[in-house]
Formats: sequence, structure tokens, C-alpha cells
Amino acid sequence: MSEVLEKIWQHQQISRVELVEHTGLTSGTITNLTHELIELGVIREFEAVSGNVGRRRVMLGFDSRRYRIIGLDIGRATMEIVVVDLNGKIVRTIERDMSDRKGPDDYFEVIDPLLREVKRDIESEGYTILGLGVGVPGPMDYGAGTLLDPPNFPGWKNYPLRSVLEQKFGLTTLIEDDARTSAMAERWYGLGRTTQNLVFITMGIGIGGGVVTDGKIVRGTNGLCGQVGHMTIVINGKMCDCGNRGCWETVGSIPGILSRWSGGNSMEQLLAAVRAGEPEALKCMEDTLSYLETGLINVYNLYDPELVVLGGRLYPYLADYLLPVQNHLRSRLYAFAKDRLNIVPSTYGTSQSAVGAAALVFGFLLSEPVRLLALTEG
Ligand SMILES: [Zn+2]
Repeated sequence: MSEVLEKIWQHQQISRVELVEHTGLTSGTITNLTHELIELGVIREFEAVSGNVGRRRVMLGFDSRRYRIIGLDIGRATMEIVVVDLNGKIVRTIERDMSDRKGPDDYFEVIDPLLREVKRDIESEGYTILGLGVGVPGPMDYGAGTLLDPPNFPGWKNYPLRSVLEQKFGLTTLIEDDARTSAMAERWYGLGRTTQNLVFITMGIGIGGGVVTDGKIVRGTNGLCGQVGHMTIVINGKMCDCGNRGCWETVGSIPGILSRWSGGNSMEQLLAAVRAGEPEALKCMEDTLSYLETGLINVYNLYDPELVVLGGRLYPYLADYLLPVQNHLRSRLYAFAKDRLNIVPSTYGTSQSAVGAAALVFGFLLSEPVRLLALTEG
């Protein structure tokens, strides 16, 4: 069933005959599985007219009429809730500034009533909620659903986030590091439909990453896989929160960049000074791009992605300067791989992690449809 769902997702519209061709399953099996999925309200039939002769064909696609998924992003400065349908269409978003809130109790004062309202609205419209996906600063203990000790996120140490949310809202709940949810947004709803190997890099207050290899999110032994911001860029450089020295984050994040410039304290000011040709600002930007280039070449050689997606609050400030970085990268990559260099901006901008949180639940539906739907029925 999982294989059939994945093919339907990949093609968006596909006929039963094509499903037989692509999966190698018998037409009898495809008939039974698709019948079951239609009954469950996960997929639906619709008629498409194909070719010049106007032949009508019955196609299959995801059904957006029965289920909704909620994505929640709990960030250091904002929180966002999105509601999506099974086609990945965002049907509602709510965003709040959280910059003067500290710790779980303070956050839940805002999140609680909003999430209750969203849940009530979805249910009163007759939809079933498949689950709640959550993006939150890592690292975390996935088995226990507990945060460990997220840097710059006071009050959340050892917080049992998943069980608290399950108790509060009674929904199937999945939690994930926010850089990985951002990667999942591309994997399931964005640019990842055509690729199985991508790295998402989010640059802002910190630098994080999410690695999708062979279609699967990779976490590693300690959940640290893809922590690209903590690769060493400056030998014996500045001390980092992680315990290492000279991490990319210490020089390439927004605070890292501004710490190398004495002329102001915002990226807007830095960019204005760069445009005005102020020498110290130019040097700071040049070094920033050089660190970025080094970070990216390491990412390419370590993970061999088909696609690198750049997002986060820093990205818009660097977007205009990326062409030379890409050109340099091409000259530094293995010759046979250099034409495959593909670096693009994220699809969902500031909503990336919340959309990706919803994508976690969608991924669960595709890999274990029977289990998730059984949980949903309660
Ligand atoms: Zn570090």
C-alpha cells in the first residue's frame, strides 16, 4: 500500500495501468489496494482527458476532502501553525511573535488556545485530523519524544514535548529538529518530488541542516547528522556553544557575521554599507561568502546531494551574491559532478519548518498508512 501511495504522490495523477507498470504489482492487487484507499478517503478517482483524440481516462490522486494535517513550528523567536490537506495545499496559517517569551509554560499560553481553536474548526468543518507534526530546535531524544538541551532556548531542557502535546490535544504527534522538518517540507511538498537526495541548510541565528538520502531523513547515532553549522571552518577559531572551535555558525550565522563587523548591528546596516562600498563591510561580506563557499563544498563532498536548498532569515541578504559562490563551487567540485551543482532557495520561506512539520505526518501516512489511520480512528 505504501508503494502505491508513493507512486501516486510522485506522479500526482496516475492511472491504474501506470501503477501496474511502475510497481510491478498485478492489476488485481492494484485494483484491491486502490479500492481500499478510496474507501479510506486517502485517494480519489477523477477523469482526465488525454491526447488529441480526447480519450477519457480514470486517474488517481490524493483526496483532499477527508483529512487535514496540522504542522506546528516552535521557534526561538516565532511560532507558527499551518493546516494542510493531503495534496500539500496550505489551507490556514497562524503566526505569532514569541521573542519575549521564555520556556514551555510561557509558550503554551499562546499555543494552547490557538491549537484548540484550529482543531475545533477543522473538526466542525467535518474533516478528520491525521496528526500533529512539530518542528522544534534540537537536539532531542526521539524515542522518548523529549528535548535534550537546545542551545539558546532556555527552559526547554529535558522537556517531554511529545507526551505533553499528546495529552493536551489527543492527536498522533511527531516531533523533529526544525532543520529536518524544513528538509521534509521540500522532500514531500516542495522540490523533492523529483529527487531522493537533498540537503536543506537553514541560516539565521544559527546554521542548521537536514539531510535526506535515498528519500529518508538521516539522523545519525546522536541525532547530529546534518549539523552543518558545526563543521569546522576556522582552525582554532572562536569557541562555539557545541564545544568545538571555529564552527561555521560562529562566523557565518547572523550573529557570527555581525561579530566580524564594527560598523553596525543588523544585516540591513551591513548590506547598506556593502552597497556604499565601505571597505570593512566589503571585507566582512567577502569573508562571509568565502565561509559559505567552504561550507557548501564540504556539504557536497560529504553528502553528495542532487539538490541543496538554502533557507532561513539570512538567505534573503545573501541571495544577490550567490552567483560567484556557485561559480567557484563548480571549479572546486569533482569534474564529473560539477554540472550537477544545484543550489536553490527554499519553497516556503518563513513557513518552511511548520509546513515540514505537517510533512512529517504525511511521510508517516505514506510509509505506514494502515497504522496511522488506525491511530486516527482511535
Ligand atoms: Zn559548533
